[in-house]
Amino acid sequence: MLGYCSNSPLRCDNAYSIKILNRMDSCCPECCLFLLPAQDVSQQLNADEQFLRFSIMVIICTLFTVVYIYYFYSTLP
Ligand SMILES: [Zn+2]
Repeated sequence: MLGYCSNSPLRCDNAYSIKILNRMDSCCPECCLFLLPAQDVSQQLNADEQFLRFSIMVIICTLFTVVYIYYFYSTLP
């Protein structure tokens, strides 16, 4: 996992230098504290943005369909 050391900058050199660490056990090699995720957050943001775009598209499609059906039935004799 890619991440920053979650320790205080005063207690750990890796936290002080805001160094991105790549550790399989998601622990800081200096102080063995958990890492704050660095890459996962941006991936989550991308997923959120895609979901937002998808929901907007669905809403627009639904709106057009409803308007189309409304006019189609209103023009029937
Ligand atoms: Zn650390």
